[in-house]
Amino acid sequence: MLRVDVREKSFAARVVLADIRFELPPGEILALAGPSGCGKSTLLRLIAGLDRGFIGRIAGPARVAMAFQEPRLLPWRSVRDNLLLAGAPPAVAAEMLGELGLAEAAEVPADRLSLGMARRVALARALAVAPDLLLLDEPFVSLDAAGAARARALLLAAWRARPCAVLLVTHDLTEAAALADRILVLAGSPAGIAEQIVVPEAIRRHGGEAAARFAMSLRA
Ligand code: ADP
Ligand code: MG
Repeated sequence: MLRVDVREKSFAARVVLADIRFELPPGEILALAGPSGCGKSTLLRLIAGLDRGFIGRIAGPARVAMAFQEPRLLPWRSVRDNLLLAGAPPAVAAEMLGELGLAEAAEVPADRLSLGMARRVALARALAVAPDLLLLDEPFVSLDAAGAARARALLLAAWRARPCAVLLVTHDLTEAAALADRILVLAGSPAGIAEQIVVPEAIRRHGGEAAARFAMSLRA
């Protein structure tokens, strides 16, 4: 169980996050939505333990993996090596590359990949270490609609094979509704949780159309 209690996070004199409290049980997908610049990545970095400069408490599972907004692969290494060097056992690496549609690309150096493929490699690398908590920061941003839909379907297939807790940052409510059980909407300055939306069972992970309609109804 991830337990987040961030009382205050500031940069210099500016308070960016205040009073953010939530829990994420094992096996749940939670989306963190909110406008660009509101503090989503900052919160994810606190949860990942990359930034300890805040007031509050965060406790969670020991095995955490993160896929950043930029794929951050080792550019001159092959796709397979990127997974192995992150600590993935060879058999698991091969399985993940298959699951994310990357088997053919295993020997390709990371700097030769399209953005869509690089994003999927980053996802495969995060999943391949069998995390209990997977942190994803806008993992499908700037992919075209078809590429994003494919990557989302591949993520769900991999997650179904081994469900872990997922915290997915996105500014796209349709994407949040397509993937998550629950959506926390961050808003304000400093940002706090403005709203919690439970995605109805009938919409949850049932594909883009239903999610798009649900997201539209939220905006109305
Ligand atoms: P989001 O991911 O929601 O787009 P961020 O968490 O990246 O937003 O940023 C939230 C705010 O904090 C922004 O105003 C950003 O400029 C500021 N910020 C982020 N990182 C730093 C930093 N290292 N130093 C100073 N300000 C920062
Ligand atoms: Mg961000």
